[in-house]
Amino acid sequence: MIASIVEVYWEWLGCYLGRGFGLLVDLVPFAVSEAILQLSMWLCLLLMLSFLSGHPIPKFTWIGVLFLFIMIGSQGITSFDWVPSARRETIKSRLALNAVKESELNDFLQIQKDLLKQFPVELYQKAALNPPLEIVQQSLTKALHRLKLKPGREVRAVKEMWGITRLLGLAYGGPAYHDVITSEVVVASESDYPASKAWRWMCVLHEAAHAQGFTREMDAEILTWLALIEADDPLFNALAAWMVLFKAGQTFELPTCLKTEFLAVEQRRKDLNQVWVQWLKRVGQKISLQNSEAKYGSVERDSIIPLDHEFFATVTVLSQR
Ligand SMILES: [Zn+2]
Repeated sequence: MIASIVEVYWEWLGCYLGRGFGLLVDLVPFAVSEAILQLSMWLCLLLMLSFLSGHPIPKFTWIGVLFLFIMIGSQGITSFDWVPSARRETIKSRLALNAVKESELNDFLQIQKDLLKQFPVELYQKAALNPPLEIVQQSLTKALHRLKLKPGREVRAVKEMWGITRLLGLAYGGPAYHDVITSEVVVASESDYPASKAWRWMCVLHEAAHAQGFTREMDAEILTWLALIEADDPLFNALAAWMVLFKAGQTFELPTCLKTEFLAVEQRRKDLNQVWVQWLKRVGQKISLQNSEAKYGSVERDSIIPLDHEFFATVTVLSQR
């Protein structure tokens, strides 16, 4: 019932709001969501100081409380997430899928291992740090068309994380976000979060997938995978195989260029000196507020993939259609 109300909302209002806000925020060179967050916090501080000092509370400061409330409940990290796009029908249930056969899943994983052996090394080495946004858009449009879904908004800019969201994102283990309200895509800079090109390409695509109206991580990941295989670009296609194997928790042969890059990234991460991020990370671990790989469809290392696993069952079936 809730899912169908949300679908009507998305069809008639949500997707247009996303397109409208997206168009505007992409013109601004910095993350607007962070600016709104900081403004809200200053307003809340002013409200508290007025209250404590016995002065009349300026009415406009309540806007800060309202904005903070909206932002806290729209990022998908707390249990009181209110945004409609988090309540949409899942892609797995849209496809009326239950489980796959063990042989189908094994064949699918073997195909991914074989595909990865033909990894386009030269293309990868020449590729830019972020994927071309036109191909991201084209591939997502094709993926949505295949699922008979209405597209959300085209992402024309990827912004760098800054301020409080940068600190919280790096500490939480979510170094990128799609803001549901402003509809902007924000990713940590290379110096803040050293990562492989493969990760950054997938990450940008993942955030752009959220911008198509899916706040749930699992749906964004399924959409990302589908867009990777639908793209008219061999590098995107090859990354789809890597994405699947990376989540599967099994041993597989990584192309040498990726192996070398991952080792370099590991070293760059060790060389980081982020005192506040580390401190916040420890606080987050103590109160169990850390990002979980499982909600993105990752399976624990060396464990058996359940045949009804949301990510693996869906992508296995989609690969056969
Ligand atoms: Zn996400």
